[in-house]
Amino acid sequence: MERYDAVIIGAGNGGLTAAAGLAQKGLNVLMLERHNIPGGCATSFCRGRFEFEVALHQLSGMGTPEKPGPLRMSLASLGVLDDLEFVEMEDLYSVLMPDGFRLTLKADRNRAVSTLEKRFPHEREAISRFFDLSYQYANEMLATFFFKDPAPSREKYPVLYSYAFRPADEVIDEIFSDPLLKLIISVYWGYLGLPTNRLSFAYIAMLFFVYMEFKPFHIKGGSQALSNALADKFISQGGTARFNCGVDKIVVENGAVKGVVTEHGEKIETGYVISNASQVTTYTYLIDPEDVPVKALREMGGRSLSPSAFTLFAGFDCEPHELGITETTNFLINNRDTGDGVIRRMNRVEIDDELMVMSCYDVADPEFSPPGTCQANMVTLKYGAPWMRIPPTQYHRVKYRCAEAMLRRVEAVFPGVREHMEELEVGTPLTHMRYLGHPEGAIYGFEQYTKDSMFFQPGRSSPVEGLFFASGWIGDCGFQPTLQAGMSAARSVLRKLNSNQGGI
Ligand SMILES: Cc1cc2nc3c(=O)[nH]c(=O)nc-3n(C[C@H](O)[C@H](O)[C@H](O)COP(=O)(O)OP(=O)(O)OC[C@H]3O[C@@H](n4cnc5c(N)ncnc54)[C@H](O)[C@@H]3O)c2cc1C
Repeated sequence: MERYDAVIIGAGNGGLTAAAGLAQKGLNVLMLERHNIPGGCATSFCRGRFEFEVALHQLSGMGTPEKPGPLRMSLASLGVLDDLEFVEMEDLYSVLMPDGFRLTLKADRNRAVSTLEKRFPHEREAISRFFDLSYQYANEMLATFFFKDPAPSREKYPVLYSYAFRPADEVIDEIFSDPLLKLIISVYWGYLGLPTNRLSFAYIAMLFFVYMEFKPFHIKGGSQALSNALADKFISQGGTARFNCGVDKIVVENGAVKGVVTEHGEKIETGYVISNASQVTTYTYLIDPEDVPVKALREMGGRSLSPSAFTLFAGFDCEPHELGITETTNFLINNRDTGDGVIRRMNRVEIDDELMVMSCYDVADPEFSPPGTCQANMVTLKYGAPWMRIPPTQYHRVKYRCAEAMLRRVEAVFPGVREHMEELEVGTPLTHMRYLGHPEGAIYGFEQYTKDSMFFQPGRSSPVEGLFFASGWIGDCGFQPTLQAGMSAARSVLRKLNSNQGGI
């Protein structure tokens, strides 16, 4: 039987950095992925002359070479930074409404503040107060969680202690009075999957901070280039990767990992598994029921699945400016609801007036698509459950009806896009279920309610000895958090090996 020091299940962001991190330290590591390419969400696919980016809208935490952010440092430590080219986006986001309203915020605090002050002069003081508060919050958060202050206290970190658990809309309502301004400030909930009445202020504050301080980035070649670079690094350091090779079972004996069995029936021996698959899959499908710790099931039982996504991938036969697209990241808003109406909208199949984000990567990177063309990725969040109830015979009809509705929304703000459309592909929650293997196609792991927020997350170890997690299911979702989660999981395995064997 083959034997490895560690087996990684899944080659998404967390799996790739965990694998590369362990191989870098000389471990004999096997990475098994059920799909035929690395990346999970961080991937691309080709239609006609276009290579479509699947997931990455704005990469956070990179910073510049002069002022590196945490992700830049992590990628440098894995040795892949020089294999990649990053494109800085000048804009944070644009908000567009069908009545012709347009506002663009630059990814720079002073410029964003001055744009908002010009548009909302009656909210001048509130605008400064909001960004002061968000920055203060983020700095206190970094001091306690990132730099790990051994003696944090309410006196030292008054903003963190007062605001960490408050719903975002409560804080936004307290600071601002103009409903339109509140809406513009709230749109990043779309990157987190919960409306602001259910989302902790912590997430909104941190997103503004990381994108303004470390800037939003895109990657030349898309997120697939990052996934390929990590996989190549892993293999060049002696790692073994197998694609089209899902794991069917994690073998557990007496509460400890003993190995895995692949979908092809191969048995592989190991004492350490890092699962990049969802926690739900890992505990309810991969481990025999009698070996699953009750504690793990109880802990998961209190959580709910995040939404999945409905996405249009469109390739156009012209450049962005010919379509009236002038910014990379565009939030299309048709209703002003940031509360429970959002949940109702995400829970229905049909597309009407939900929040949409449309990214046109060619604005920031004119070489992204073939010369004289451009592409746009248009997403709205949808729970998977209603899609799972659609009879298979109806699926295509429903999918294209929703695509048509979404396209009409886009045409309302960018008239004429349809005439220039050369390729169109549609992804539904069922698409995400299929290619990621996640329950209900959830793209943000478990929902990040305050009780399940970064402060109470279960961590990367499991009650099963030798089992660790590295994914958006055990912490925050997004590229930066999951890439870093994989590195943390690798460190946990190394620590465990060192303490068990006196070094490796
Ligand atoms: C449409 C969309 C837009 C997004 N936009 C952004 C954005 O702009 N910015 C941002 O930061 N984040 C964004 N995200 C979120 C981000 O992409 C994810 O949080 C992140 O990529 C998840 O990484 P992960 O490590 O959890 O692994 P995943 O990407 O979930 O991958 C898990 C991997 O495990 C594999 N696997 C599962 N089961 C098995 C098994 N039994 N055996 C072998 N392999 C298995 C799967 O095939 C998959 O490859 C977006 C996601 C989507 C889908």
